[in-house]
Amino acid sequence: MARIIDENYSKIAEKLKALNHILITSHINPDGDNISSITALGMGLSSLGKSVTIALVSPVPHIYKFLPYTEGIIDFKKLDEDRPNFDCAIVLDVGSLKRVGETVDIRKYTKLVLNIDHHVKTENCGDISFVDSSYSSTAEIIYNLLVDMDIKITAEIAETLYAGIMTDTGGFQFQNTTASAMKTISELIAAGASPEKISQKIYFSNRAAKIVLMGKVLSTLKFDPSGKIGWIVATKDVIDECGANSDDLENVVNNITSIETIEVAILFRDLKDGKIKLSLRARNNVDVQKFALKYQGGGHKKAAGMVLEATLEEAVNRVIFEFRDYIRG
Ligand code: 5GP
Ligand code: MN
Repeated sequence: MARIIDENYSKIAEKLKALNHILITSHINPDGDNISSITALGMGLSSLGKSVTIALVSPVPHIYKFLPYTEGIIDFKKLDEDRPNFDCAIVLDVGSLKRVGETVDIRKYTKLVLNIDHHVKTENCGDISFVDSSYSSTAEIIYNLLVDMDIKITAEIAETLYAGIMTDTGGFQFQNTTASAMKTISELIAAGASPEKISQKIYFSNRAAKIVLMGKVLSTLKFDPSGKIGWIVATKDVIDECGANSDDLENVVNNITSIETIEVAILFRDLKDGKIKLSLRARNNVDVQKFALKYQGGGHKKAAGMVLEATLEEAVNRVIFEFRDYIRG
């Protein structure tokens, strides 16, 4: 019997089995679950003799480069030069095709778009879509899919999927650290994933520039009078000054949720492109996914993101003002 019983999930497995020339992609600004899901599926499908191309809009962040198969991930610009046609594209860890990147029109490359995701569903995405937010991560769904497709979980696939589940559960700390996630983790360790190696590579292999940047960004911390809302800001100038990248800010905002009074923590990122990117984190009963949805963003109840077209000052004033009301309910 299949590990996941769902009509669309089974249809996706059938298509992947039947088709040969497959494009795999995920969202802009990749995180661990993104990189893990696309490369694990890529390795699994390649082991069936399929021709697999993995493309992303953004480069692979430094801390995930040790993962197998990441060196083969290409930029969509390269695809445009080659103009290939795929039997299908599978879009992972996103609930909207726009999240792949505004410059990408996935329909240019294929007629059939498949989708697997674990975020709160907000719109239809692709032609056949399996979305289940009860899963800890897209990596956990990919594990089940590979097993259901009778694909061997090699030590490399196990290590990769372990990294995805570990990062999306915040090192097995968040609400999505479920029994099912931990059962999968146990199977991945048995298949050859080394918890020590993976956490050393991901959590203890930072470049010095990242830590210097974190210090500068954390020092911008401000609170609303209640102490329940805390926010930090990062500008392109400070990132450049430290010799760091924007992806060095992944999860920096989580530090703010370690302050005892905090219910909402926000990172405002000004990359000087006329847009402000927000990373939202919540505690207790605050639902930041719902807040982000008002601005066409999304994610999970306790971790979400959105983009605002505004100056940094406008974005901060508007969002903090609205959050004061929002958390009062
Ligand atoms: P982060 O704040 O770490 O970038 O993202 C937190 C969560 O929200 C992740 O699950 C991420 O996929 C999602 N997310 C971040 N930014 C956006 C966005 O602009 N739109 C949507 N739909 N989801 C986002
Ligand atoms: Mn995810």
